[in-house]
Amino acid sequence: MLVRLPKTVEQAREHLTGGAVPIGGATLVWATWQRDGFPEQAMSLRELPQANVIGPEELGGAVVLSRIDDRVPYVLRAAAGTVGTGAVRRAATVGGNLAGSALRCLLPAALVLEARATVLTSHGVYETDLAEVTAKRPLLLGLRWTAPVASAYHKAPGEAGGEPPLVVATALHTGADGRHRLRAAVRDGYEVLTATATYGPDAPRPLDELRETPLADVPGTWDLLTEQVTTLVAAAPHD
Ligand SMILES: Cc1cc2nc3c(=O)[nH]c(=O)nc-3n(C[C@H](O)[C@H](O)[C@H](O)COP(=O)(O)OP(=O)(O)OC[C@H]3O[C@@H](n4cnc5c(N)ncnc54)[C@H](O)[C@@H]3O)c2cc1C
Repeated sequence: MLVRLPKTVEQAREHLTGGAVPIGGATLVWATWQRDGFPEQAMSLRELPQANVIGPEELGGAVVLSRIDDRVPYVLRAAAGTVGTGAVRRAATVGGNLAGSALRCLLPAALVLEARATVLTSHGVYETDLAEVTAKRPLLLGLRWTAPVASAYHKAPGEAGGEPPLVVATALHTGADGRHRLRAAVRDGYEVLTATATYGPDAPRPLDELRETPLADVPGTWDLLTEQVTTLVAAAPHD
């Protein structure tokens, strides 16, 4: 197997067109390839600058989960910190988690940040939403979002090989008009449900709105959601 290590997006596009299979830390693909055979070419983005950024409003697709620190919003680093074991986090990447894994612990966090994905196909680079990333699994160069005012994350304890544990993630965004938008995501099994509650500074009652959404019906969710939303509302700027 030839491992391509592009240093520019154009090189990455050429390798993709030439049939190179994307690879992150190989935590998922290695066992499959050992069993079924290795592809002729694989491509890692670990030397591509655009895929290695870490900042308050961006995260590269080749970033290894253990490198995700307080440069990114709390919800995302908390999500990364709960993936698998230390050994998995030291190898697994953002792209491998969002595009390649079934659990996708980063997905609820990315959804409440309203992240947009930058992806590469043989036609070039374009921006898309996370639904396309999970459905079509294009090569993920990175994520971008607007920094939230505050965010929160909870993952229930789970058993290896059992049902995916419940995840509750929330983020509070404040618009230029002073109105707040509270985004919530709940992982129920392999499905992630999302909801948005908007409110003005005079009527901070996003829980009333969230109560009417399917998120409230997921067993074990409501108390966690109430706790997170109450904390985030208290963190919102007041006039
Ligand atoms: C012991 C163990 C425990 C785990 N626990 C959790 C958990 O708690 N929560 C959780 O979410 N996950 C968990 N996982 C799954 C883990 O998230 C994945 O193994 C990991 O994220 C895959 O990342 P990788 O970089 O190693 O991907 P790889 O194994 O290299 O690739 C996996 C797939 O993703 C594709 N891919 C890789 N990079 C990109 C990219 N940039 N763009 C598009 N496609 C790409 C590959 O082509 C391949 O199809 C666990 C895994 C293990 C082994």
